[in-house]
Amino acid sequence: MKRKGISLRRVVQIFFLLLITLIAVNHTLEERGIEIPLVGSASLHAVCPFGGVVSIYQYAAAGTFTKKIHESSFILMIIVFALALAFGPVFCGWICPLGTVQEFISRIGRRLFGKRHNNFIPRAADRYLRYLRYLVLGWVIYATAVSGVLVFADYDPYYALFNFWTGEVAVSAFVILALVLLAALFVERPFCKYACPYGAVLGLFNIVRVFGIKRNTDTCINCRACDRACPMNIQVSTAGRVRDHQCISCLECSSETACPVPATVELAAGNISIKKAEV
Ligand code: SF4
Ligand code: SF4
Repeated sequence: MKRKGISLRRVVQIFFLLLITLIAVNHTLEERGIEIPLVGSASLHAVCPFGGVVSIYQYAAAGTFTKKIHESSFILMIIVFALALAFGPVFCGWICPLGTVQEFISRIGRRLFGKRHNNFIPRAADRYLRYLRYLVLGWVIYATAVSGVLVFADYDPYYALFNFWTGEVAVSAFVILALVLLAALFVERPFCKYACPYGAVLGLFNIVRVFGIKRNTDTCINCRACDRACPMNIQVSTAGRVRDHQCISCLECSSETACPVPATVELAAGNISIKKAEV
């Protein structure tokens, strides 16, 4: 069934993009004695689930939290991990504002380059490049554990995007943000695919998640619409069940969005399937 309106995923993405933006702006206003109602004193670090991942090592090794990381990051991380165990990297596909911004820029890229968009990098090289994010993850955990500070902040495009007006952002983070936004014109979610350490962690849940992307081989007509719809270039049409570490649970490949045959590509566990809603 083709999409008729704005998808539920888009609504959720916009909600979190606005929420994180409000929290970031509130942080600046607070310093001038103004506070946005309801947002309160939430800090960007406190709502950064990646902070929780970095803190695991620090907490286990030294029994302390990394500077600027709050207990709330831990709680948020547990919620995100529980969601990932059940449904895969929902945080990436539905919540992360950096993922959302990359998707918005890629819409321009699709208009500019048509079918070539998201297909510029040769598949043979791309396959290996996608493991780069695990190198980044290893470096971030090691460097943070050794130094006790969030070293990734100096290279983090997420932090740069929501703090560019504060004067607290390192030049290196600005450069990486600019490169990511530029690359998003050519490739869907370049940061997610090649560099995001948090995406690397969440991607592993695709191997064990309870509800997965399943293709019904009996009803599939091999039109490959699911492959073309996948922003992460996953070959859904050759999988019985998608276990690729790059799946972001966006459901763009599903029968409610791309696949023309009802109940052929679904988010399912055994005989239970979940439909994607439109609003
Ligand atoms: S891979 Fe990273 S940047 Fe991309 S959506 Fe997931 S957390 Fe966000
Ligand atoms: S389109 Fe399907 S296979 Fe591709 S990332 Fe989204 S849910 Fe995963």
